[in-house]
Amino acid sequence: MSKLYYRYGAMNCGKTTMLLQVAHNYEERGMKVLILKPKIDTKGNDRIVTRIGLKRKVDHLIEKDEKLSNYLNTIKKDIACILVDESQFLTRDQVDDLFMFSKLKDIAVICYGLRSDFKTMSFPGSLRLFEVSDVMEELYTICRCGKRAKFNARIVNGKFTSSGAQVAIDGEDEVTYESLCGKCYLEKVLGITEKDISE
Ligand SMILES: [Zn+2]
Repeated sequence: MSKLYYRYGAMNCGKTTMLLQVAHNYEERGMKVLILKPKIDTKGNDRIVTRIGLKRKVDHLIEKDEKLSNYLNTIKKDIACILVDESQFLTRDQVDDLFMFSKLKDIAVICYGLRSDFKTMSFPGSLRLFEVSDVMEELYTICRCGKRAKFNARIVNGKFTSSGAQVAIDGEDEVTYESLCGKCYLEKVLGITEKDISE
């Protein structure tokens, strides 16, 4: 029985770089991995692209309503590990398929993704991963104030915003993101300070 891992964090915490490093580590030892990515993340199309410039073609792009078990059933036994990038965009059913696969086919699955969206709310994929993963590991990045950043702030045309659709891909339509700690998120994005909660 292999494990399902969920490695999560805010944006810019190096998730994709870490995924590629893990792939490299397996391959250096002569083991095979497969890299999957939900198609909803249009950044890089069929490649995963990291902020430090590493790139790699994915082995399978997951369609929005795809029955993932169909693909998983085609995977050969000699695969050591399945790596999933941007796994917050998976559906609950797709996470369940990965969970069943890790258990019943005995191949490790490592999912990388976000903890929450720019409104601090869960994505369906990350929520299901929090429910069924064997191992959860938080990855950190640093806020502008130096504390650990756990939240994602959306910036549209240079301004923080807390409204809009859940999914807007980084770098498209003037949308960028900044990872912030809880205090900075409250202050910079929502405009809430300590005196707002004091009598
Ligand atoms: Zn901060």
